[in-house]
Amino acid sequence: MSMPTYLGMPPFPSAAAAAVHDTQLRHNLTHATHTIRAKRAGAVAELADWEQLRQAAKAIKEHTLANLDSYLLRLEANVTAAGGQVHWAGDAAEANQIVARLVRAAGADKVVKVKSMTTQEIGLNEALAADGIEAIETDLAELIVQLGHDRPSHILVPAIHKNRSEIRDIFRREMPGAPTGLTDEPAELAAAARAHLRQEFLQASVGISGANFAIAETGSLVVVESEGNGRMCVTLPQTLISVVGIEKVLPSWRDLEVFLALLPRSSTAERMNPYTSIWTGVTAADGPRAFHLVLVDNGRTASLGDGTGRQALRCIRCSACLNVCPVYERVGGHAYGSPYPGPIGAIISPQLRGLTSPVDASLPFASTLCGACYEVCPVAINIPEALVHLRAKVSHGISERTVFHLAGPVLASARGLSAAQRLGSVASRVMGRSGQIRRLPPPLSGWTATRDAPAPAAESFRAWWKRTRR
Ligand code: SF4
Repeated sequence: MSMPTYLGMPPFPSAAAAAVHDTQLRHNLTHATHTIRAKRAGAVAELADWEQLRQAAKAIKEHTLANLDSYLLRLEANVTAAGGQVHWAGDAAEANQIVARLVRAAGADKVVKVKSMTTQEIGLNEALAADGIEAIETDLAELIVQLGHDRPSHILVPAIHKNRSEIRDIFRREMPGAPTGLTDEPAELAAAARAHLRQEFLQASVGISGANFAIAETGSLVVVESEGNGRMCVTLPQTLISVVGIEKVLPSWRDLEVFLALLPRSSTAERMNPYTSIWTGVTAADGPRAFHLVLVDNGRTASLGDGTGRQALRCIRCSACLNVCPVYERVGGHAYGSPYPGPIGAIISPQLRGLTSPVDASLPFASTLCGACYEVCPVAINIPEALVHLRAKVSHGISERTVFHLAGPVLASARGLSAAQRLGSVASRVMGRSGQIRRLPPPLSGWTATRDAPAPAAESFRAWWKRTRR
């Protein structure tokens, strides 16, 4: 379960502390997230049955996850029957080895790629590079990130942290054949990228994609996108390799209908995305001659065994939760130390990678628990619930359960409560003269490490009542 690109990243509090001081980053993020957020709200408001669609999507995903083994076997049988080959990868390293072997077998040392979160998760580009294979990202934002030797910072808009002039500078510096005098006009930047990528599409013999959905009923793969680069990648090369997380399977075409209503409105605020590519195995005289589906586990079955955490596997990577998150808006995606940033990253990365590293143990705390992410999620993932669940796992001995266990006897007796209030009143005079307590002793020190605690009132309500109502 390795993620080479993100190994050794600092814990969220350190990374976030550095990021909030980057005023350009905050400006870029605020502008972009507020724009997308408002557009999404408008697109969603057009559908009177949005909540029913959302609950239907949740039910379909829950049913599929509960029967994942049988739907995956059905998917395999139908991909194979349509002329494709299915490969099973237990972890990132195995998936990368399979893909590298398939690329070599096709006689290629270069591939074109559709934007794919799963290939980022497994560190495919880095693994291919170590094997002497160059991977070219063809999504415009992914291309910007790749040319800038950077990391993606958003699920849908990986270069959201860059503005137009920063992108122009990257193109001028790194893009072979970039026009001299290139300006930061969006149309000029897009034209430069199109000319650059067109050459890559025409030369590539291997394309690599992910998939938004995999339909078990027929063995079909579905990619939704906005630019048409994905359509080029899955149709022009002779060999197509699709790297797909096992949770992407849907039972039938009828199920897909629900998700095609939810995903574009939630991600790009469109009624329907411009390109929806669907392919089933191989077809004589049309498209790739060979098709390989690599099904990736990489921690997913472990997450499936967690009754609360498994809801993260419903995620369709729309990124709506990022765009409404007050924490993401201020720190950006890099602070999460994972290809999955924002609220979904805070619950899915620690589950896929485990809670052992400092960065993964810090992610469940990267939230205010305001619940905005839950409200917008098109598959109704209760992200705050999953965050609290993961926090309890990280905190071990001082979980909420322990705190309430200790507080129970005090709250159960009037005398105990009065004694605790008197103690709090004394403590507030000592520690909280300004009305705020800046540092609490262990085990409560974690609370004041990043925020002040309000000092208890000098006089309790009961004492005030007794004093004034006699
Ligand atoms: S958790 Fe929900 S809102 Fe966030 S990316 Fe996944 S599907 Fe979208």
